[in-house]
Amino acid sequence: MRIKINAVTDSATFPEQVDVIVIGGGIIGTSVTYELAKQGVSVALFEKGVIGGEQSGRNWGWVRQQNRDLYELPLAMRSLQRWEELSGEIGEDLGFRRSGILYGTQNEADVARWEAWGRQAKQMGFVSHLLSAQEVHERIGSQARWVGGIWSPTDGRAEPSLAAPAIATGAQRLGAAVHQRCAVRGLDISAGRVSGVWTERGRVRASQVICCGGAWSSRFCKPYGIELPSANILGTAFKTTAAPEVIQGCLSMPELCIRRRLDGSYTVAIPGRGQLDLAPQNIRYAARFYPMYRSKIAKKLKLRLNGSFFNGPEAAGSWSSHGVSPFEKIRVLDPQPDRALLNEALRTLVNAFPALAGIKIDHAWGGWIDTTPDLVPVIDEIENVPGLFIASGFSGHGFGIGPGAGLLCAQLITRHSPFTDMTPYRLARFAKGNVIREPQMM
Ligand SMILES: Cc1cc2nc3c(=O)[nH]c(=O)nc-3n(C[C@H](O)[C@H](O)[C@H](O)COP(=O)(O)OP(=O)(O)OC[C@H]3O[C@@H](n4cnc5c(N)ncnc54)[C@H](O)[C@@H]3O)c2cc1C
Repeated sequence: MRIKINAVTDSATFPEQVDVIVIGGGIIGTSVTYELAKQGVSVALFEKGVIGGEQSGRNWGWVRQQNRDLYELPLAMRSLQRWEELSGEIGEDLGFRRSGILYGTQNEADVARWEAWGRQAKQMGFVSHLLSAQEVHERIGSQARWVGGIWSPTDGRAEPSLAAPAIATGAQRLGAAVHQRCAVRGLDISAGRVSGVWTERGRVRASQVICCGGAWSSRFCKPYGIELPSANILGTAFKTTAAPEVIQGCLSMPELCIRRRLDGSYTVAIPGRGQLDLAPQNIRYAARFYPMYRSKIAKKLKLRLNGSFFNGPEAAGSWSSHGVSPFEKIRVLDPQPDRALLNEALRTLVNAFPALAGIKIDHAWGGWIDTTPDLVPVIDEIENVPGLFIASGFSGHGFGIGPGAGLLCAQLITRHSPFTDMTPYRLARFAKGNVIREPQMM
């Protein structure tokens, strides 16, 4: 694997029956498992590879409320609260620090958008601060010619290498079963409702199953007649060698995003740049992605024809629950980073911050990001398959909202009132014939 991630030890015994099965051990699956176990529910998590091995161990580590789709702001705010509580509850450092997020820009239009967003966010209880060009300069001292910025002191960062593994371990301590290298091949359905799953180690019974399979969820759900529109976008990032502190938390500026890591290095990437592979899944859902493809978000994406047409999460083809499934053929999605982006980002970093001259790339990685047409996740109960829930499509920002989403899913599964309105997260918004909202994330 191109990333380094804390290892989790599997539970000692393999369950035959539990109340709830969680598919996928990313930040979402581990958080759901933790919250259910905390409520005393008997729960088992199955991960085809390793905990945190895909998106949740590959992201930039931003834990952000600022510039979110306002639909998602209550979830993001609750999530920040959970991040703060979790280290204490679990007794392990998840790397969470409320060190703030700063956006700087050289474009007047950005400032106008942030100002309008900030006014609405304030009515919802979230406060950020618009900064003048001088104030941006004073905060980061970079050489860029700023027009303005926005600063959200209550935002934070966490360590992707620590978070999902720590939450999974916390769930185990509360009684959850966690098994890795154990793909779920399919659902077990009896009398028209979910009665368990078929794993590569056999059947496990449960009356409720939640699919938190990230980039794989859409393919997993398709055999049950579920249309979960998803397009996977390849992101590239790298960790630097240790270097002087030019920013305490996270900084976004044109053509560069950086986060200070606990070990004194940085995670660096170029925002918005990525690759989209032409594959049967994104061809199938192309019409539903039309609003996104025509928005400015898609302008910086490169389209390519690659192996994913025949293999992997977006390929076509069926399988049986009793034979090797696509999920165990690729234990961990570990794509190559885009070399051109790495060199460009390193150059931009050193140009912006001369104090970082001599900094090097320690290691780099790629990560497939599962996106939905409006860039808001699906968190829902599936009417046509009673007993099945989906929490997927976190569209490049699920790490920050993971703990909040875990709580929301647990409330949905245990029939407690959800802490926020579920309407924005319903799968039905993507049903054929519905007008799909253009992505609002900024
Ligand atoms: C480069 C990059 C940068 C990002 N930066 C940020 C950021 O700064 N802040 C932020 O909030 N978000 C960020 N994101 C997005 C964030 O990482 C994701 O939204 C989030 O991690 C999604 O979590 P997940 O649990 O849904 O998916 P994943 O972490 O992908 O987990 C899904 C898991 O399900 C497993 N699985 C799938 N199918 C099966 C099956 N059939 N049986 C068993 N297991 C299965 C997979 O192996 C995988 O481990 C970034 C993502 C990338 C790639």
